[in-house]
Formats: sequence, C-alpha cells, structure tokens
Amino acid sequence: MNIIFLGPPGAGKGTQAQFICAKLGIPQISTGDMLRSAIAEGTPTGLKAKAFMDAGQLVPDEVVIALVKERIAKPDAVHGYILDGFPRTVEQAKALETIAPIHVVINLAVEDEVLVKRISGRRCCPQCGTPHHVERLHGSNVCQVDGTCLVQREDDKPETVLSRLKVYHEKTAPLINYYQEKGLLKNINGDAGLEEISAQILETLEALK
Ligand code: ADP
Repeated sequence: MNIIFLGPPGAGKGTQAQFICAKLGIPQISTGDMLRSAIAEGTPTGLKAKAFMDAGQLVPDEVVIALVKERIAKPDAVHGYILDGFPRTVEQAKALETIAPIHVVINLAVEDEVLVKRISGRRCCPQCGTPHHVERLHGSNVCQVDGTCLVQREDDKPETVLSRLKVYHEKTAPLINYYQEKGLLKNINGDAGLEEISAQILETLEALK
C-alpha cells in the first residue's frame, strides 16, 4: 500500500510514520529527513534547500519532486511506503499522480496552539532523525534509539514555527479537500496519546485491506 501522511508541522507524522512503517515492514519516505541529510552532506540539493528550510518556507516543488521520484524507484519501495511530509502543495500532489498510485491519505489533525507547544519542545536526533519531546526525555538529552546527542532543529525555533504554520495553512491544507474529493482521505485526531493514534491509524489501514 502506498500511503500519504498529511498534517501540519508537529502533528506527529514522523513519529507515527516511523512506528507504522516498522509494523508493516515498508519504508518511511520523509522529505524533511531527506533534505536534512542532503544539507548535512552538502549535496547540490542540500545547498538549494537550506535557506528555504531555515526560514520555515517550502523548498521549491521541482527539488522535492525529483527527490521523491528517485527514492520511490528504489527496490525497497516496491511493496509500498509511507510518504511523510510529501506532497505539501497541490502541484506536488499532481506530480505524484504521474509517478505512483496512492491508496490512502491519513490526515493527522491538530490545533495550532497544541502544535506550537509540541514543536518548541521537540529535540531531534541528528543521526537517525527520530523526534523526541523534552517532556518525555526527563532531563536526558540523548536519542533513545541510538544514544546520539539530541539537537533542536533550526526551524523548530519559535521565530520560525509561526511561518511554518502559515505556510501549512496556505499551501498544504488545501490538500485535505483535494484528497477528500478523490475519496482517499481518512481523518485521525492527532491530539491524543501516541499509542491511541497509532492504534487508530492501524485500524484504518486494516479496514482497507
Ligand atoms: P515538519 O513536518 O515538522 O514541518 P519536515 O521535516 O517534514 O517537518 O519539514 C521540514 C522542512 O523541510 C519544511 O519546513 C520545508 O522547508 C522542507 N520540506 C519538507 N518536505 C517538503 C516538501 N514536500 N515540499 C517542500 N518543502 C519541504
């Protein structure tokens, strides 16, 4: 199954995608993680993306579309995948239609107020990308997966979070209607416990089999 995880920044797409992918044995394709790796490696894509990301703006459509196209052609993606953070614009969604079929879109809905709180407390592993929250770290600052020292993403700093939310409402939220009209949208309340959300997503996916 080819699945899209849609939702505002901080909705928990990455956390849930990681869990569900492990459960289903399919890869998590996160454009945010791919772009951050590209920046860390200093590739031409990374050089193009950095200023946009640091400012909380979207990276140009053609850059991310090329990344996704290349990634889903890899052998591990033949049995399905979760697209986490892509598409983020109607143009990206239209381009995706020419690359791959999509079977379901999981929309994680969370109010802006909750998002701001979540994002400002987020600390990420620069090695494996796993997001953590200060409240669940209990004073520790290392990744619970691989022990790497956690960092705050440049774009998780308060001054950038508001522009990301604005961009989400302007550019990405229209995809909710877009996929609703195609009959692919499944809404999940993202303002619940992590386990509860995972269970809801799994149940929704099971029902489609
Ligand atoms: P979040 O969902 O918390 O915003 P991501 O890691 O998905 O975090 O994205 C971080 C940043 O990477 C975005 O603000 C944007 O600049 C860039 N980015 C990620 N995916 C896309 C995409 N599909 N289109 C354009 N820019 C993207």
